[in-house]
Amino acid sequence: MIWYPYEQMKTMKTPYKIVDVQGVYLFTEDQKLIDSVSSWWSVIHGYKHPELNRAIQEQLEKFAHVMLGGLTHEPVQKLSAKLQSWLPGDLDYCFFSDSGSVAVEVALKIALQYYMNREETQRTMVLALEHAYHGDTFKTMEVGDDEDYHFVLKAYGESRHVVHIPTQIEALERAFEQYHSKLNCFLVEPLLQGAGGMRMYDVSFLRRARELCDEYGVLLIFDEVATGFGRTGNRFVADLVLPDILVLGKALTGGYIGHAVTVANHKVYEGFYDDNPAHALMHGPTFMGNALACSVALKSIELFEQQDYLSKIHRIEEITRREMDGFSDPRIREIRIMGACVCIEVYDPTVIAGYQKFAYEHGVFSRPFLNYLYAMVPYIIEEEELIQVLDTMKQWFE
Ligand SMILES: *Cc1c(COP(=O)(O)O)cnc(C)c1O
Repeated sequence: MIWYPYEQMKTMKTPYKIVDVQGVYLFTEDQKLIDSVSSWWSVIHGYKHPELNRAIQEQLEKFAHVMLGGLTHEPVQKLSAKLQSWLPGDLDYCFFSDSGSVAVEVALKIALQYYMNREETQRTMVLALEHAYHGDTFKTMEVGDDEDYHFVLKAYGESRHVVHIPTQIEALERAFEQYHSKLNCFLVEPLLQGAGGMRMYDVSFLRRARELCDEYGVLLIFDEVATGFGRTGNRFVADLVLPDILVLGKALTGGYIGHAVTVANHKVYEGFYDDNPAHALMHGPTFMGNALACSVALKSIELFEQQDYLSKIHRIEEITRREMDGFSDPRIREIRIMGACVCIEVYDPTVIAGYQKFAYEHGVFSRPFLNYLYAMVPYIIEEEELIQVLDTMKQWFE
């Protein structure tokens, strides 16, 4: 028996069974669906990409996996070298793990221990955003701010170690004034908060955050598990404002295998690099640096670079803006567009109940949640396919 994610199993409707995939399409026995969710925002090159398939197959002929404890191998060396040269600034030190949640856990552990290693043991607090989502493990639930995912944590009472603020500069300044001596980091999903409702905010907030982090010696962590690899129209938001620690996941492997990476800058790495064995980072997921994952991630980045994905993403944004221009409905609270993400927020969640079935009948797979009807398509989508996704969203309101 499969226990499905985020579902009351008693009332859950039967999931669509996928029998094949190709490009932007998922196939059930009787329907061909454009995947407007990109398998939780990860399948940026589409399914069954010949070059990604080949990269994995070639590595599989050699070996699928060896552990990183005491061993190393070419795919992980090549991927870390690639990330080091490709990521902005001195984000050079790659700690691999098997999922975004774990990679955020690692970032939070690094931030806490960075100050423990310096004997600033009062810095136990994390500043985070309202509506934040950073994963489903325990510490990421605590730094997250979404009742629907995290209500189980209420059993422990209010967290004394996390402060949540809205994406307003005033609130940011106030929080730093009040808590700066206790904060080890400010953790954010930059520009676009995904699972918290596709909330978009201005880069000026992040610029001010960078200044305040510098002023008060607080580490700035960008959780780009969702926003990384072009989703916001930037390669990484870290290209605009440089964090001390960057977390990547989801699209890292083009959606092929669960893998993630926590990338630290020089200053952070130096905080661990000395003669004291107790200053080591004591973490090591069994499957970190998996050879298949690293091979496909490397190829995914090469495709992203060589085929000018940023212009594909800008085209998606342009078409989306053009198609949504002038569209409105009294039940819609706001339509938000950024890069290859579009979200229709409705006032009343019952307004979008039944949309998934409607979309299925129109050849689109969609997974709305709460008040949010959204699309985060694979970047290889053709114009007419994208229009089909957007038309389906608009037709629902007609
Ligand atoms: C999906 C997501 C995570 C968690 O990643 P998993 O691989 O599901 O553990 C963390 N942060 C953000 C911003 C995400 O969107």
